[in-house]
Amino acid sequence: MDAEFDTIILGAGAAGLSAGLYTTRAMLKTLILESLGPGGQLLITDEIENYPGFPTGVKGPELAVDMEAQTTRFGAQIEYAEVEGLDAIDQPVKVVRADDREFTTRSIIIATGGAHNKLGAPGEDEFAGRGISYCAVCDGNFFRGQDVVVVGGGDSAIDEGLYLSGIVNSVTVVHRRDELRATRVLQERAFARENVNFLWSHVVEEFVGNEALEAARVKDLKSEEVYDYPAAAAFIYVGFHPQTDYLKGLVDMDPLGHVYTDIHMRTKVPGLYACGDARADSTRQLGAAVGDGITAALAAYHDLNG
Ligand code: NAP
Repeated sequence: MDAEFDTIILGAGAAGLSAGLYTTRAMLKTLILESLGPGGQLLITDEIENYPGFPTGVKGPELAVDMEAQTTRFGAQIEYAEVEGLDAIDQPVKVVRADDREFTTRSIIIATGGAHNKLGAPGEDEFAGRGISYCAVCDGNFFRGQDVVVVGGGDSAIDEGLYLSGIVNSVTVVHRRDELRATRVLQERAFARENVNFLWSHVVEEFVGNEALEAARVKDLKSEEVYDYPAAAAFIYVGFHPQTDYLKGLVDMDPLGHVYTDIHMRTKVPGLYACGDARADSTRQLGAAVGDGITAALAAYHDLNG
């Protein structure tokens, strides 16, 4: 049986679109499967300052549109479907199942990235969409002029907290330790911002409210005091997990679900590659995702062409 595609790329984030740019330019018939919209994390990132070539920064959604246009210009086909599973992955013709459809291919590049973790606090699900958010760029405007909290102390929390501070009245970062994990330049910017406050060594025990979120019930880990901290919204940035559930039992993964690859992005299964945030040991940076995608595409091209 002939395969419909030379390669199917799972995910149209920065890694997947970069892989598609290279596979199509190498004349591999390429399908990119995407469940939401092209761009992945770019779509929920306001300003990107650390992607080379943009000295004054670039808006994530704008870069997403340009990356998609560049990749489709060379003939990559994008279909909107959620990947449900892979079959016959050890065969020359592999099958990708997505939204009750089946696609056949000679190779598969996994680029399904990851998503922000939930905190797991009571009230988090109840107030989702009514104050609880994982995307400042998407939801920040609903809370214009109000007081919000950001949970977490990494790059995402501080980056998004800085973005929110330009929209809302005040941002309070609730962090479980007394120092941030975020990059120093982001830390310094946040410390200098007048309407960004910090609740150090605090955790959120519960989200409380009526129709909508009204407060984060926080605990001071040093004094053990528990009190309600008023907030119209809580933006949660407590880490990131790979979206690789559909690969369980098929490829080697670390305990968190990141796919193991060699330096060429090959998994142990011939014809199966992984790149970007979904792979183990990724630095989870935009530039790294782009590089991973390109490396995976070149490996697929070499393997398919002997
Ligand atoms: P992260 O670096 O893993 O940080 C997660 C933060 O959440 C940490 O401060 C952690 O506290 C806290 N946390 C985790 N679990 C918690 C819990 N159960 N309760 C309370 N707090 C909890 O995740 P991230 O900020 O999403 O970043 C992910 C990756 O993307 C990183 O490699 C980052 O560099 C990259 N990234 C880069 C940029 C940029 O370059 N501008 C922007 C966004 C993301 P502890 O510090 O105590 O562990």
